[in-house]
Amino acid sequence: MPEIVDLEVSRKNMLTRVKGKILQNFEIGAPIVLRNTDPRTAVKLLSGKKLTDITRVSKSLRFELEDVSLAVHLMLHGDFKWGDRTDSKGAVCSLDFGANDTVLITDWSRWVRLELHSSVHSIISEALTKEYGVDPLSDAFDPPAVEGILKKNPRSIIKSVLMNQSIVSGIGNAYADEILWHAKIHPQSRCGALYNAGEAGTMYRSIRDVIRNALETVMELSKGEDISEQPRSFMKVYRKSGMPCPACGYMVACTKIASRDTFICEKCQRKF
Ligand SMILES: [Zn+2]
Repeated sequence: MPEIVDLEVSRKNMLTRVKGKILQNFEIGAPIVLRNTDPRTAVKLLSGKKLTDITRVSKSLRFELEDVSLAVHLMLHGDFKWGDRTDSKGAVCSLDFGANDTVLITDWSRWVRLELHSSVHSIISEALTKEYGVDPLSDAFDPPAVEGILKKNPRSIIKSVLMNQSIVSGIGNAYADEILWHAKIHPQSRCGALYNAGEAGTMYRSIRDVIRNALETVMELSKGEDISEQPRSFMKVYRKSGMPCPACGYMVACTKIASRDTFICEKCQRKF
C-alpha cells in the first residue's frame, strides 16, 4: 500500500509534468471506484479544467482543478502510472492532460476510492486536516506534538498509534516497522511507558529521519519521473525476515502485531 513517501514522490513528479495543463479528457474505466457521483457528472465537472495543484491529505492525493477537487485514495493495490491517451487498458481511471501526459490509475481489485469535491481547495484541506492526525512532513510535526501523542494514548501500543490516521497521517505498516527499528523500540511498547521513559524525543527523531531519508531515496529511485510505487528494497527490516539486522547482525523476525505482519529485530528493539 502506498504510504506518505510513495505518495509524495508521485505527487511531486506529476506536478512537474502536468501542473498548469488542461484536463482534456477524464475517463472512468470502473464506475464502482467513483464513490460520491456518477461518471457522467464527473466527466462534465472535470473536463476542460486546468490543474492548479496536487495536494496530499494523509494517504490521499487531491487533484485541484480550478473549482473542483478529485480526491484519490489508492487503498491496498492501487497505483499511478504514465500512459498515453490511446492506452488506458486495465486502468480504473485516466486523466488525459495531453498526448503523452495521461495519468492512469490502475487497480486489479478496484478498491481505489475517487471522490469529487466542488469547493475551494484551501477550505477542503483545512476541514480535512482536522479529521487527520499530524503529518510528519508538515510544520505542525515537532517534538511537543509527538510528546502529546504518547501522553494522550498511554495504554495503546506504539505501532497501532503510528498507523492510526487520526493520530499520525500517512504512515502504514512498512514505515511503522522502519521507524520503530530506527528508534530501537519494540512495536508492542505502550505509549505511556515510552512517555515516562523520556522516549518522545527518540520517536520524534526516528519518524522525521526515516520519512525524510526515504523521501530522498525514493525520489532518486523514481529519477524525478516515475509515479508508480517504487521498490522498497532500501528498507532495513520491512520484509527482511531471516536476513541479518543491519545494526547487530541478529536475524530479523516476522510476527503479527496489531493483526499486521511486523518485522523486528528482537535484540535491538526494547519493549517499554
Ligand atoms: Zn538488531
